[in-house]
Amino acid sequence: MRASSFIRLATLALAMSFAGVARVRAQQAPLTPNQQAARDIYKELLETNTSVMTAGTTIAAQQIAKRYRDAGFAEGDIFLGGVKPEKFNVVLRYHGRGGATAPRPLLLLAHLDVVEALKSDWSPDLDPFKFLERDGYFYARGTSDDKAMASIFAANIIRLKKEGYVPDRDIIVALTADEEGGCCNGVRWLIANHRELVDAAYVINEGGGGSLRDGKPFLNNVQATEKVFANFTITAKNRGGHSSVPRPDNAIYELSEGLVRFSHFNFPVQFNEVTRSYFEHTAAIESPDVAAAMRALLRNPNDLAASAAVSGRDPRYNSTLRTTCVATMLTGGHATNALPQTASATINCRMLPNTDPADVRAQIVRAIADTAIEVSAAPAMRPSAPSPLLPEVMGAVETVTKQMFGNIPVVPIMGTGATDSSPFRVLGIPAYGVSGLMGDPEDVRAHGRDERMLMKSYFDGQEFLYRLTKMLTVAKTVP
Ligand SMILES: [Zn+2]
Repeated sequence: MRASSFIRLATLALAMSFAGVARVRAQQAPLTPNQQAARDIYKELLETNTSVMTAGTTIAAQQIAKRYRDAGFAEGDIFLGGVKPEKFNVVLRYHGRGGATAPRPLLLLAHLDVVEALKSDWSPDLDPFKFLERDGYFYARGTSDDKAMASIFAANIIRLKKEGYVPDRDIIVALTADEEGGCCNGVRWLIANHRELVDAAYVINEGGGGSLRDGKPFLNNVQATEKVFANFTITAKNRGGHSSVPRPDNAIYELSEGLVRFSHFNFPVQFNEVTRSYFEHTAAIESPDVAAAMRALLRNPNDLAASAAVSGRDPRYNSTLRTTCVATMLTGGHATNALPQTASATINCRMLPNTDPADVRAQIVRAIADTAIEVSAAPAMRPSAPSPLLPEVMGAVETVTKQMFGNIPVVPIMGTGATDSSPFRVLGIPAYGVSGLMGDPEDVRAHGRDERMLMKSYFDGQEFLYRLTKMLTVAKTVP
C-alpha cells in the first residue's frame, strides 16, 4: 500500500479511533463518585509494580492502608505484615453489630501480586505498568488478575464506611502477597501466624466471573472447588557408553516410548457436587448432541462414547471431567558423544479435589507400563474438599445476578487452575470464586500480553460485589 494513501488512511483511522474513544466516553455516563474512587485505587494499584518474582507487595499494601486511614478506619483494624518486609499483606476488619450471637465474619479476598510482564512482549503502545483507557477497555498487567477485585473490595468497604453501614457480621478485606507463586504466600502466612485475622464463615475470592457472548452476559460462574496441582518426575536410567557404539537400549528412547504410551491414557471421569451441577447447567446451553452426551455421562460416568464426545467438544470440559496429567518438561543426556544415562520428564497433574495423589501415581505407573522407568513419590497433600453450594451464598449470587444481568444462569464451576481459596477449603472454610466481572471467554488475557478489562465490566463488577457484600452481611440471609 502506497505511503501517501496509507498516511491518509492512517490519519482517518486515527481520527476514527479518537472519535471511537470519544464516542465510547460519550456513550458512557460520567463516572459516579464511587466509580471514580474505585478507578483511582485501580489505577494506583496497576501502576505499582507488584510482580511476584521481581517486585513486592508492600508499597501497594501501604497505599491501601493509607486510604483506609484517610477514610477513618481505626489503626487497630488495619493490619500490615507478611513473610518478608517487601511482601506485606493488608487486612482490614469492618466491625458488624457484634454480640455473642453474631455470625462469623465474611472474608473478601484478593491478591496484590501479579505475574511478570515485559514491555517488549506487549503491543508497542502499551506498557504493562502504565494504566491506559482505550476503546472501552482498561489496559495494564493485573487488570483482570487480580487488581480489579482488589481495588473494588477496597473502594466498596470505604463506601460502606462512608454510608455508615452496620452489618450483622464483621467484614474482613484481605489483600495479599504471592498468590501467583514466589516465596511468600500471604494467605498461608496469615493462616499460620494470624489465624484470627482471617477466620471467617466463608470467603469471596477470585476464580469466578461472568461470560459474555456478542457483548451480552449469558452466564455467571461461581468457582466452588478447584483442581489440585501436583508434579511427578519420571526417569529412565541406562548404563550409557560411547555414542559411536549405540545399542537398542537407550534412556531417551525408553522414556519417549513410556511417554507415548502415557499420552494415550485418560483418567476416569468422576463428578462431584460442583461439576455435576456445572454439566447439568451447561447441557442446557450446549448444542443438542453435546447436551445429550453430557446427560448420558451424568447418568453413567463410564460411558466412553459420551465422554469422548464431551471432551472432544472443548478441552475445558475434559479438564472438568477428570484428573489430567501432562508432560511439561524434558531433560536427558549428559554429553553429545555419550549414550544417555538419564532421561527425565516432568508430569504436571491437576487432580480432582479429594483425590489421593498416591492413587494418581499408581495410575501413571500403570499407564507408562515400564517398571524400569521410575516415577517420583506422590506429594503429601491435605485434601481440599469442594465448597458446599450453600443456599445463602448461591441464593444471594442468583439474586444479584438477576438484578444486574437479567435472567442468566448462575453456574458452579471447578477451577482447573489454583487460587488462594484452597488453603481455606483445607481448613473447612468454604470459599467461592465470584466477581460479577463479565468477560469474553475466548479473550482471556490473564498472565498474558495486553491484559485488559472492559470498563463497563469493571464498574458492573463493583456494583455486583457491593450488593453481594451487603446481601451476605444482612441478618435475614445470615443463618
Ligand atoms: Zn489471580
